[in-house]
Amino acid sequence: MTALLPECPYIGRFAPSPSGPLHFGSLVSALASYLEAKAHHGTWLVRIEDIDPPRELPGAADGILQQLQQHGLNWDGEILYQSQRTEAYLATLEKLQHMGVTYPCQCSRQQLKEQGGLHPCRCKLKDPSAPSALRLEAPTQSQITFNDIFQGQQRQDIKHEVGDVVLHRKDGLFAYQLAVVIDDAFQQISHVIRGSDLLDSTPRQICLQQLLALPTPLYGHIPVAINADGQKLSKQNLTPSIDAKTASANLISAMHWLGLPPPTELIHADCSELLVWGAENWRRERVPPVMERVASS
Ligand code: GLU
Repeated sequence: MTALLPECPYIGRFAPSPSGPLHFGSLVSALASYLEAKAHHGTWLVRIEDIDPPRELPGAADGILQQLQQHGLNWDGEILYQSQRTEAYLATLEKLQHMGVTYPCQCSRQQLKEQGGLHPCRCKLKDPSAPSALRLEAPTQSQITFNDIFQGQQRQDIKHEVGDVVLHRKDGLFAYQLAVVIDDAFQQISHVIRGSDLLDSTPRQICLQQLLALPTPLYGHIPVAINADGQKLSKQNLTPSIDAKTASANLISAMHWLGLPPPTELIHADCSELLVWGAENWRRERVPPVMERVASS
């Protein structure tokens, strides 16, 4: 694995999909990646992952950016929009095709389910002119291990536990796994701090980095906020958007979530004071090492 050298500058990022406004769960992810970066005197980038138009809400990207600013979460540098990265994604797909590690696939979800969710071998296309997805054939040696900053040692066997990952969808859209790997490398991201709902995706991202000889960032997956029914907070289960009128209080709640309760004298502080205090007092070991926690409403 191409490990990042210790002297590499710290570059973190928050990479929301514009499928709806920020809610408490996404604020926690934004704040954790921000505080981690600032505590290490690093750079904090924002990338809008707008590669799935059917799941996007008009105006959501601008709305998220505005909400970040209203909470004092000001990013460094330019915003990267994945919708403008088509050429880079196509070039990488071409490279992987030349390497002979991809194959077209026309299987439906149902067909795959009948095969236990895993592809037993490369597809034999019934109709080569019909639309097909492009899959990455998992390498035979596909045991991926990594040490997560918050969740500890992780291990996954891609070939047997995940199978052949889709890189380019049948509907012509690029897959998240492809775009995230290319853009983390393009932006020279050294640390990926995000919700633990993505922990399971990390080994396939590392696998792709290894195939493409790209560096592997350090990963840290923070507990995901769930509701009392055990569902992740999301637009789909009608989680309310955070209200910018209570921005400081929202930050205080998110800090509590991350094991970083501000002192009582900061109860009435504004966002920028809270964030300065948060970066100075950020301790990785205080973040609860659990995958999910119920958010009090
Ligand atoms: N765009 C993804 C989301 O909003 C996050 C991707 C990532 O952090 O790697 O869930």
